[in-house]
Amino acid sequence: MDSDRRILEGYSLAIDDGRIVEIGKTEDLHRRHSNVESVDATGQIVMPGLVCSHTHLYGMLLRGASLSVKPPSDFTQILQRVWWPVDEAMNYEDAYASALVASVEFAKSGVTLFADTYSGPNSIPGVLDRIYEAIERIGIRSFISFEATERHSTDEGWTGVKENVRFAELMSKKHDSKTKALFSIHASFTVSDELIREVKRIAEKYRSPITIHASEGLVDLHHNMENYGKRTIERLSDVGLLGSMVVLAHCVHLNSKEIDLIARTNTGVAHNPMSNMLNAVGVSPVQQMIAQKITVGLGNDGYIFDMFENMRAAFLLHRLNNRDPNAIDSYTILEMATINGAKLYGMQKETGSIEVGKKADIILIKPNLLPTPLTSETVVGHIINTVDADDVEHVFVEGKQIVKNKLLLSFDEQEAQRISQAAASNLWTRLKATPVQIDHMHNP
Ligand SMILES: [Zn+2]
Repeated sequence: MDSDRRILEGYSLAIDDGRIVEIGKTEDLHRRHSNVESVDATGQIVMPGLVCSHTHLYGMLLRGASLSVKPPSDFTQILQRVWWPVDEAMNYEDAYASALVASVEFAKSGVTLFADTYSGPNSIPGVLDRIYEAIERIGIRSFISFEATERHSTDEGWTGVKENVRFAELMSKKHDSKTKALFSIHASFTVSDELIREVKRIAEKYRSPITIHASEGLVDLHHNMENYGKRTIERLSDVGLLGSMVVLAHCVHLNSKEIDLIARTNTGVAHNPMSNMLNAVGVSPVQQMIAQKITVGLGNDGYIFDMFENMRAAFLLHRLNNRDPNAIDSYTILEMATINGAKLYGMQKETGSIEVGKKADIILIKPNLLPTPLTSETVVGHIINTVDADDVEHVFVEGKQIVKNKLLLSFDEQEAQRISQAAASNLWTRLKATPVQIDHMHNP
């Protein structure tokens, strides 16, 4: 994924002090570095670690849950009946447990960088420390944030912003940390212009990226039309939010004027195809955005953590939606899940590709079954159509191996599973004991 998008066969790379220091013919590198620790990657794919551009680690605790809620019939009801009651019930232990187990799954499936947004009105101050602690144990690179929202009250929104500021201040003193601060705003339909402006001002001070859900469901568009007479991206533009350090998640309901605004301001987009299908919100106009040179990354929105599945979903969704087998190609999908994700968060000089000078965030893939030859011509097709998370053999983050022969080295996987299962069953019990349904919300 370097600027020439080269695919090399018979090459090796050398890592020193966390960075890629040399890329060259295998014989040459072996001759010159005979006394170093090496990994034999014969027959394997060596590629940049995957980037998940938008996630909610705590989504992991809902996997398989059967919550006795009245079946939601649209996106707003999915939030009101499923997600917001879960947010209310989340506590600090749940935040830690979900961050731990989600990081295990990300690491084992070849994700080396992700951007997380946590939400929970009853676990705000200090929660990012717990999430940070969990992720550091696993050793992946990340951006983490608390999702500010005024859906209950104005106060709730500012408490959320404060938590991000507290964490950004803490991380500003830890330059070497693999975890970095992100500012997060839930969505334009749950926050005021004042809050958006203030988050933009503070995030610029800390040089941190900002993320917001934008026109995921029609509720966002309708809210902005009714209350401001503007479409979602028009309002975000007028309030001064857009810019190169801003990542808009979803962008499903856009018109061409909004796409122009995103392109003109160099704003980034995180596309979440599997979540969009799950919530039946619609299809994001990804090809139109790419045609306008907008950086589009790939996210899971807290749903399926295997990014190979997310890549495949994106690849198929746009073909079907456009009834065009050429709608999107494998290479574009791979860019979304690697270098574009890094670019969205200002990390393109550090990670997202295999290049001399970059951090060694690298994964090795050994497909369990290869029905056809693996060559430089077929490798991208294999990544999109053959490979699953289970095929990830080794994972390095900043040169440190965290997965070896498919086993996590940094933490006891069984222990992570035990912690998250206990948290999940407690959470489900609390949710069933006191069912909450949020039908009305404070209009910011
Ligand atoms: Zn999301």
